[in-house]
Formats: sequence, C-alpha cells, structure tokens
Amino acid sequence: YFRALEQAGILLNRPQLEAVRYGPGPLLTLAGAGCGKTTVLAARAGYLMAVRGVSPSSILLVTFTSKAAAEMKERIAALPGIRPAAARAVQARTFHSFALALLRHQGVTEDIFGETQAQHTVMKMLLRQLRLSEAYQPETLLSALSAWKAEGRSAHELPENSQEERDAKQALLAYEDWKKERQKMDFDDIMLRASRLLHDPAVLVPLQKRFAYIMVDEFQDTNTLQYEMVRRLAAKHRNLMVVGDDDQTIYTFNGARQESILQFDKVYKDAKVITLNINYRSDARILGLGSSIVAKNRKRRAKRLVSAGRQGLEPQFFTPSNPEEEAIHVVSHLLHQVEEGTLRYSDIAILHRTASGSRSIFEQLVMRDVPFIQYGAGTVFYDQSLIRPLMDHLRLALDPRRMECIPSALGPLYVPRETGMEHIQKEEKKQPKKYPLIHLARWERLRDFQQEQVKERIRLIKSLTAMKPLLAIQEMRRAFYDKYLESGDPGTWTHYKETLQESLEELETAARRFDTVEEFVAFADELSARHRDMETLRTAADGDAVSLMTIHRAKGLEFPCIYLIGASEGILPHSTALGKEPPEDLLTSVTSGAQADPEQLLEEERRLAYVAVTRAKQMLYITSPAANHGKPAALSRFLLEAYGVKPSAPSGDPQAQRPGAHARSGAQARDHHSKARMITVPVWNCTSTACSAWIRKDIKHTGETPPLCPLCSSPMQEGTRSVPAR
Ligand code: ATP
Ligand code: MG
Repeated sequence: YFRALEQAGILLNRPQLEAVRYGPGPLLTLAGAGCGKTTVLAARAGYLMAVRGVSPSSILLVTFTSKAAAEMKERIAALPGIRPAAARAVQARTFHSFALALLRHQGVTEDIFGETQAQHTVMKMLLRQLRLSEAYQPETLLSALSAWKAEGRSAHELPENSQEERDAKQALLAYEDWKKERQKMDFDDIMLRASRLLHDPAVLVPLQKRFAYIMVDEFQDTNTLQYEMVRRLAAKHRNLMVVGDDDQTIYTFNGARQESILQFDKVYKDAKVITLNINYRSDARILGLGSSIVAKNRKRRAKRLVSAGRQGLEPQFFTPSNPEEEAIHVVSHLLHQVEEGTLRYSDIAILHRTASGSRSIFEQLVMRDVPFIQYGAGTVFYDQSLIRPLMDHLRLALDPRRMECIPSALGPLYVPRETGMEHIQKEEKKQPKKYPLIHLARWERLRDFQQEQVKERIRLIKSLTAMKPLLAIQEMRRAFYDKYLESGDPGTWTHYKETLQESLEELETAARRFDTVEEFVAFADELSARHRDMETLRTAADGDAVSLMTIHRAKGLEFPCIYLIGASEGILPHSTALGKEPPEDLLTSVTSGAQADPEQLLEEERRLAYVAVTRAKQMLYITSPAANHGKPAALSRFLLEAYGVKPSAPSGDPQAQRPGAHARSGAQARDHHSKARMITVPVWNCTSTACSAWIRKDIKHTGETPPLCPLCSSPMQEGTRSVPAR
C-alpha cells in the first residue's frame, strides 16, 4: 500500500506513517498548518480499508465544511487500491450532515430551515408582533441562541434574570414555536436533537458498534456539543483519531473550545500523541512569517515547523492609502500575473477579515470583469440584508413607484407587510397619480400611531432626494440605528452590534464617492446587474476563477497565490479585540463566555493572521491600507511583531509597491468572453490606465455628461463594450 502510495506521489514521512498505522486506541495528531494532517486522515482511511480490511462503512470521518467532506471523498477515491464504491461508502461528513442523517434514519421528517436570510425574516416578524423590534435586532438574538445551543442547552433553559433576558427569551421561544408549528428545524436544532438521541442506548449502541474508526479533522474548532457526540460514538471501540492545530482555533465565537485539543491527552490518558512538523505547503519564508506571528501567543503548544523546501517568493508588502486604492492595486496586480501567464485565476485567493471588508475588492472584480467566486456571502454589498433597506429608501426617494423597494423600506414598522402591499397596489389602480406610500398612510386598517409612522417615513424618504448620498445615509442611520447602537443595555450582543456598525461605516465610505443619490443608486444597480452576469463570465472562463473569501472560510485550503488584504490595526487585529474594556456580552451567561477576555480575543486575531498567511504555497501579498472608513489605520501589530521592525517594503518586486503599475485594460487582454453570446452596449470608460473600470450606459447611467469613475474618480469617456447577453 505504501509503495503504491509513493508511486502515486505521496511519500509519507516517519511520523505521518506512524499516525496512519497507529491503533487501536485514541490518537491525537497535532501539527502546524500544511504539515499534512488532512493528508494523513485520507491515507489512513485508505490504509484501514486496503491493508487492514476494514469495511468502508465502519469508518466515520468528520470534517468542518461540506466542501472539505467532498474533497476528502475525492482524495480517498484517488488512493491506490480503493474501489470507487468503497470510497463512496466511507462516511465522510460534516457534523451537521452526520446529525441530519441520524435524525432521518430515526424517522424525523421535519424540513430543514437553514437559510439565514429566512431565519432573520421570521425573527423580524416575531419581534414586530411582540413589539420588541426596536429593542432587538433579529441577528443578535439568533446568534445568541446558536451559542446557547452549541453548549447543548435548549431555549427553554435560557436565563430570565432581567427584563431584557425575559424579553429575549420570549422572542426566542416564539421562534422555536414558529418552527415547531411548521415542522421545521434549523441547523442548531439538528445538532441538539441528534446529540440528545445519542443518550438513548437503543440509538447509540448500534452506532458505537458500527463506527469502529472515527476520525475528526480540524478538531481545534469543535464545540462542546460536537465533542460530546464524538466521545459518545467512540466510547466502545475507542479508535478515535483527532487531528488539529491549536494555533488554528478561529471559531470560538461559535463555541469552539481550544481546550478540547489542548487537553485531549488528559481526557484520554492512554492517547498517543504524534506531532508532525514538516510543512509541505509553503515557501520557507512564508512559513517563517506565519510561525513568527503566532509565536507571540501565550495560550498554545509550542511548535517548531520546518519547511520541506517548496520554492516560492518572499512575502511582499504594500501600504495603499485606503481600501479603494488597495483594491485597485490588488486587482491590477493579479490581472498582470494572469496576463503574463504566471498564474491562472484559480491559483489565486483573496482573503479578508470581515464580511464587509470585501466591498471595495468585490467592486473592482465585478467592474473589471475578473471571473471570481465569493464563498459564503456571494451577494453585492448593497444587496445584503443590513444594507438593502437603506438602499431601497434611496431608490424610493428617486422613484416612489419602485414597488419592489417598498417592503424593505418599511423597516421595523408595525405594519402588516403583505396585506399592506396588496392595499397599495389596489389603490394605485384607482389613483395612479398619488404617491404610493400615501395609500398606506391613509389605510383605515392601520391604527393612528401606525399611520403616523408611515407618514413619518414618507417625510424621511422625500427629504433624502435633495441630500448628498453620504448625508442621506447618515440621516437614516440616525433615524433607524443610532438609538440601538448607543444603547448599552445588556440585552444586546456586542458581536452583532459591531457587524452592524461596521456595515454602516462601510456604506458611508462607499457613499462618500458620489455627488448625488442618483449616481450612487445607479452604481449599486449596475453592480448588481453586472454581478448577475458573473455566472456567464465564469462559464466562459471554464470555471477558472479567483476565490474571494473571509479568512474563516479559507481554513484547511491552500492556493499558490494569496492576497491578504486589510492587514492594518482595527481590521486585523479587528477593532473588537482592541477595546480596553472586555466587550459586553449578550445575556452574559448566554454566550459561551469564552471570548470575554480581551487578551484571548487578540490571540484569536493572531491565529486568524496565522491561518491566512499559511494558506499560501508560493506567493503571498499582504496589503495594509493606511486608512479605513476615513480614519488613519496603523500597520498591523502582527507584522510589526513578526519583523521586529516596520516592514516598509522588505524587498523584491519593485512593481508590487506601485499601485496599478501593471494595469491594462482587462477586456483587451483576456478572451474568456469569447464563448458567451455577446452584445455590444454603450458605456463610459475610465480614462485612467491604472483603473480600467467601465459603466454600462444602458442599465441606468444614460446621462450625457461623462461621470467621474466610481472607483478612482478619474474622468470617464464614451465608448462601447462587448458584454455577455443575459
Ligand atoms: P491545515 O492545517 O492548513 O489544514 P494540513 O496539516 O491539513 O494543513 P494538508 O492540507 O494535509 O495539511 O497538506 C498540505 C500540503 O502538503 C498538501 O498539498 C499535501 O498534498 C502536501 N503533503 C502532505 N504530506 C506530504 C508528504 N508526505 N509529501 C509530499 N507532500 C505532502
Ligand atoms: Mg487540513
């Protein structure tokens, strides 16, 4: 088997071999990034089947994401001597998919209610019904519930020590009832119910018998509930192998417990511990940077990683003046590499710290026709649930008849949505000249205070028309969010508040570039339309696409070339970790409490930086914008610590220091359009050679005077473009 493996290109080193062959008994394989933990798991599954004759269906392999599970199956299928049917029969699953399969097997038929957006909508509705929608944000409550359930507790056990806690509990119980009445369960329910099922010997014992070998990847990020499930399942055979890296615990906000891995060999006294320390993934200088970043953490097992000698480049740094310039630089730079033939799009990943941190780069990629896949969010910033309502207000300010914008612009008002819309549409037919929302304000089914609220909203929307976009956003922020954001009440969860705050700041930054609401809305609409073309663009490029994702999503993955953006104080480390005060936590008892300590938060940020850096095989480009949201931002302390001095521009490619130096019109140089059906449309082209953005005139921007470029503010000029036909 091992000789065949070697012929297939996998020459395992000594400790890797030992881990693959170890057994029976519990085994902890601890290793830094890129040392082949996931490789060993796959090789071990193959070894058990091919050499030890273990039945594939008695092997359970738990991975962190469904993408990882699918990859694991592929890896196993590619091993020598493994039949495709055997590879399929191995239970390579995420915790959720395992739990769901268990429930289904036990005859549970409820539908899955898994869409975050839908959950928020339901929670919003319930909060409105309970008259709590001004005090709570749905996202806040739902994440608190998640954290609570990750500890294995049900909503009925939520604390009720203060009025806030009682209100929150009431709303969450209403949410639980809503699901129950409709025979639905969300992911937390799935986990909780499956874990409770495992308390029943009739369910547990056959599973314990069946799964003779259990292996868990990314063990450092399991939460209490998941850990308990694994322990129960493995209790009979005790052939539990966990692999992980305590330096890569990055999900404590989801209940991950670093202790699980740090103390595995204390819980399982007879556990064998095998450490791997040869990194096969990264160039030694990239690995060195990662190691010296994470070495500053105190809560960790010390490791010394050596590089297997993969050849690459020294990490490169660049300090753009702000995220807009950063985005121009990164996209120009990567286009240049692709045009030169150094890399394919799919060799490249762009990593960012927070969800809203990808806004500028996303706009660049869309406006410059770079095929890309965004993992996780996948929507235009302006269409995201927190931002969309504000944009819809602006759209209504320009055109009160954009009916599709009315529901979201009604905000948290206590107005029935569906029947309200029906009423407006009915009245519209009778009195088509009237301002549509007026019909709602005069609707006799609404009570006085509700009618007053609608009138108030109409006044607000009308007042936005004459404002500069930035002012308009600030006006809405004052009207809708400031009270909530400034409230220090303990019923609010800091983590969510931060996200909201950050999204609003990002929106203000975006709005600042435009002179009129009309231009701003036109740009957002253009971006959505162009983003919808992305699928066509990717198909035309044969699926060859840049990956754009948060650092969290990049866990376990590797790419020849990584761009890590936002390596500045306040972004990475994130501002939440920099507060002097420990962040106030929701119903303090509700969250796992693991993150209350600022020092621990900072250590988690450091681990994030480590994860990001160690995704790179050959090339790593780190950018640190000197300002963010209009405020100065210093170079990330993680870089300063790692180098001891400011890495002003350590070395190498002088081109990398000049933003946009290589830019050239993307559309000229690339031909991935050629396979799609194309139409020619009138456009405005940016005149800056460093930028190459363009705007479709036929979507919205029909104005005759050339606008300034929305990305770099250079003048634009008339032209035409070929675009994929929709
Ligand atoms: P992470 O902590 O990021 O999840 P990991 O420890 O799981 O990393 P792998 O993804 O398994 O690491 O391996 C990293 C890279 O090293 C992969 O490209 C893998 O093919 C390669 N690799 C692992 N072991 C060997 C080996 N013995 N010989 C050659 N290449 C190896
Ligand atoms: Mg791995």
